[in-house]
Amino acid sequence: MFSYRHAFHAGSHADILKHLTLIHLLEYLQEKPGALTMVDTHAGAGIYSLEDGFAAVSKEAESGIFRLLKFKEAGNAIPESIQKYIECVESVNAEGELNTYPGSPFILAQLLRPQDRLKLFELHPKEIDILRHNIGQLKQSKQIDVYAEDSFSRLKGLLPPPSRRGLVLIDPSYEDKQDYRYLETAIEEALLRFATGCYAIWYPVLPRRESAALPDRMKKICAAHKRSWLHTELRVENAPGERRLQASGMFVINPPWTLEKHLADALPTLSKALGIGGGAQYLLKSFEAKN
Ligand code: SAM
Repeated sequence: MFSYRHAFHAGSHADILKHLTLIHLLEYLQEKPGALTMVDTHAGAGIYSLEDGFAAVSKEAESGIFRLLKFKEAGNAIPESIQKYIECVESVNAEGELNTYPGSPFILAQLLRPQDRLKLFELHPKEIDILRHNIGQLKQSKQIDVYAEDSFSRLKGLLPPPSRRGLVLIDPSYEDKQDYRYLETAIEEALLRFATGCYAIWYPVLPRRESAALPDRMKKICAAHKRSWLHTELRVENAPGERRLQASGMFVINPPWTLEKHLADALPTLSKALGIGGGAQYLLKSFEAKN
């Protein structure tokens, strides 16, 4: 337990899918002026160096954000849906450089309006200190609460948010197999308290029973609560037996109607830009509940 450090994976293809989806969800919800509460249940360190430390060892950003930017620099068309994500990454870097990658807390913090609030959970004893330090540097820090607590059991206590408008990112490391079960319980409890909240769940696509079952388990919960959903996966390579993560997914409960089109625009370009050896493919499905 607690060997996972997100710095190893910062700027990977999985981060791209997750953060691009997150930005769109936030932008849609911010079309209305009402205050918004965002909860990032698994925050990590907040922002990462791509030049040194874990990210430099793993080099996952090489096949992620660096590859995407090279694709763009080569003159390939980048749809608006990806451009906004790239701008978000560029905004934490000096012009023309890419040595820093914003994790979900910094992406959300950058987009906070004065009326919005951000709640971050992190359990790792080292990551929480780094996260607190990083958040403390931000001008928006007064709008952000950081909790060194188990978010699976604490999430329900924050719901519903005072304004009844909320976005919850659930991005566990799944290093504990029980995370799959904790996730289901947390979602069930959250929907009972705040059925109309938008919940974005990231998961790794792995040859493991729990991972393969996750989307169907979520669909069952949505059916029981009469909730709409959107399910997407991005595979960048198909190399069975290789240990590196080759695909990941997002399952969004109560997605905005615009999300499907947004991802439909982005996924073909992401497949082209990030695909290795012709193994890229994507999935995009949704279901609208009739209430
Ligand atoms: N959301 C981050 C991003 O996109 O930049 C990455 C988060 S990383 C995948 C997952 C983090 O969750 C790790 O830093 C881990 O220490 C933390 N974590 C694991 N279990 C947790 C729990 N029950 N409650 C809160 N944080 C937890």
